[in-house]
Amino acid sequence: MVYENNLAFAKAQDEKDPLKEYRNHFYIPVDKEGNELIYLCGNSLGCQPKSVAQYIEQELNDWADLGVEGHFKEETPWMSYHEELAKPMAHIVGAKPSEVVIMNTLTTNLHLMMVSFYNPTPSRHKIIIESDAFPSDKYAVESQIHQRGYDPETSLILWQPREGEELCRYEDLETLVKEHGDSVALLLIGNTNYYSGQCYPIKKITDLGHNNGSKVGFDLAHGVGNIMPDLHESGADFAVWCTYKYLNSGPGSLGGCFVHERHHTDKNIQRFTGWWGQNKDTRFNMRKGFDPIPTAEGWQLSNPPILSMAAVKASLDIFEEAGMSNIRAKSEKLTGYLEFLVNELNNEHIAIITPSDSSQRGCQLSIQVKNADKSLHKKLTEAGVISDWREPDVIRVAPAPLYNNFEDVYEMVERLKKIL
Ligand SMILES: *Cc1c(COP(=O)(O)O)cnc(C)c1O
Repeated sequence: MVYENNLAFAKAQDEKDPLKEYRNHFYIPVDKEGNELIYLCGNSLGCQPKSVAQYIEQELNDWADLGVEGHFKEETPWMSYHEELAKPMAHIVGAKPSEVVIMNTLTTNLHLMMVSFYNPTPSRHKIIIESDAFPSDKYAVESQIHQRGYDPETSLILWQPREGEELCRYEDLETLVKEHGDSVALLLIGNTNYYSGQCYPIKKITDLGHNNGSKVGFDLAHGVGNIMPDLHESGADFAVWCTYKYLNSGPGSLGGCFVHERHHTDKNIQRFTGWWGQNKDTRFNMRKGFDPIPTAEGWQLSNPPILSMAAVKASLDIFEEAGMSNIRAKSEKLTGYLEFLVNELNNEHIAIITPSDSSQRGCQLSIQVKNADKSLHKKLTEAGVISDWREPDVIRVAPAPLYNNFEDVYEMVERLKKIL
């Protein structure tokens, strides 16, 4: 696509955008005077769909009117509420509906998945993660290693960018796997990487791990809702994500989880269990003997929080209607425009860390501003641009394809230019 550095071009793109109506489905945050902000922080917390209140109110009213009978009401019964979410969720991550479940929160799900797919033995006990993995993932991994009686000093292997580089190279992961060979139990990769915005090849990494006899899992917190991971085809063992970033389901909302179908009926897999994972026909018998639901639902612990689920449902209904491939197509153009405009700044202090190949990134660009400190981020915020700052010198900007537009991107770079 050929871009132009002017407002008329941005507005013309917005006019042509087949998804342009979706911006009106969201509340765009405003300043104290009520003016819309340039909100490019969907990588941290997505905007609120206007329909959320109505979805939640429906369940509040049903709770008031029906009490416990709400579990069996005609429309959206609470007993099976989560089942309605599996299909739209599966479309977003490229899975079968039986392979996904909305439950718990991200880090909890990561622990549950490691209980099932990290089975260290004295000869195979290592986990490989990216050196710039999200802090919560690092803590989770380290505590799992400790809990199983191993030591992160020897069992945690970091996939690092080379000296002087910001991105991880696939061939270096290959080298690590070769070097550590049979001792690698699990590859756990954050995709997209939250810091650099780099997106790794899911299928290739999965094959690499599996050919080595290792399990492979992905944290899609920064990928879900903007990249198309094709989880089932990739053959990955598991994946986890949250729904409050690009999936716009509200602060601290529920997590999602993928378990490949080949594991669903494997009785040898360890897991932590709860009654909501028990075969639905016998769930209420409260008898001895756990008989898991033969889908990803078999990893559920508790009956789910319906009010949070209602917000997830509101959001997933929008994704289902808009279509993930349309969303991704717009996202590539929008982020491409941001890249174009940042490069037009022609400023020697500014470098984009994120790969310029669109197949290696989601919607986020991580912009490094050399010699800058957090005051730059503060000035941007004062100028009405909501972005995200990572020490020492990186601004993360994420045009979310459902509600951001070309004008947002244009305005953001104009304001950055003034500040610089
Ligand atoms: C946002 C994010 C988290 C946050 O975890 P919660 O359990 O939802 O608080 C964890 N890991 C990654 C990679 C993230 O991007």
